[in-house]
Amino acid sequence: MRVDILGVGFDNVTMDEAVARGCELLEQGGAHYVATPNPEIVETCRADAEAMAAVNGADLVLPDGIGVIYGAKLLGTPLRSRVPGIEFGTAMLAHCAETGKKVFLFGAKPGVAEQAARNLKKQFAGLQVVGTRNGYFADAESDAIAAEIRASGAELALVCLGAPKQEKWMARYGEAAGARLLLGLGGSLDVFAGVAQRAPEFYCKHNLEWFYRLIKNPSRAGRMMKLPLFLVHVAGEKRK
Ligand code: UDP
Repeated sequence: MRVDILGVGFDNVTMDEAVARGCELLEQGGAHYVATPNPEIVETCRADAEAMAAVNGADLVLPDGIGVIYGAKLLGTPLRSRVPGIEFGTAMLAHCAETGKKVFLFGAKPGVAEQAARNLKKQFAGLQVVGTRNGYFADAESDAIAAEIRASGAELALVCLGAPKQEKWMARYGEAAGARLLLGLGGSLDVFAGVAQRAPEFYCKHNLEWFYRLIKNPSRAGRMMKLPLFLVHVAGEKRK
C-alpha cells in the first residue's frame, strides 16, 4: 500500500525495511528501480506526466526530504519514516561489498564517478565497481550506455542524473541496462566523490538539510520555491 501525496505514491517503509526490500530485489530476475522523491520532485511530476509515470513505476518510492513527511502528516496519512536516498544507497553499496555483487556508477560530471569509485572502494572493502560513466550525454547515446552497463555485468547501478532525468532514464532503459536494481540518487556521486558535502549532523538532525543546501548554494533558491508551493498544494488537497 502506497501513501499518495499529490499523485506520487510513497512506500511507507523504514530505512531497514527499504534496505531489506532492495536486497530482495537484487536477488530477483528482471530489472527494478528505486526513486527517492522530495517535494521539489513531486511538484515537477505534477507538471510532467512522463516524470510522474516514471516515479510511480519504480519498485520502491522512498520519502526523501522532511517536506514529504510533513505533507503526508498534513494529509492525515502519515509516513513512518524519512528514508534519505543517499543513506539508502550507502547501505545498498555496503550490502553489495559484503555479497560480492557488481556495481556500476553512472552520472555526474566527468571524473566524478571515478573518484566516487575510488573512495567507495576504500570505504567498503571488496566493493566491485565494474564500470563508470559520466551523466552528460546526448539522448541518442542512451542505448549505448545501457549496453555498456549490461556488458559490465553490473547487478546494481547508481543512476545519478538529477530528477526527473534519472527516473525517466531508468524507466526507459532499465531493462536494457540489465542490472537487477537501479537507484536514482541525484547528487550522491558528488558526495561520494567528495565534490559536494552532505549537511553537518546538526542540520540533518533538526530536519534543516534543505536550509543548509540553500545557504551553501543560493542558486538553488529558485528550485526551492517549489517547497512552499508543495505545502500549499498539500493544504489545498486536504481541504478537498
Ligand atoms: N547531472 C548529470 N547529467 C545531467 C544533469 C545533472 O549527470 O544532465 C548530475 C549533476 O552533475 C549532479 C546530479 O546530476 O551530480 C544532480 O545533482 P542535484 O544536486 O541537482 O540533484 P538532487 O540530489 O537535488 O536531485
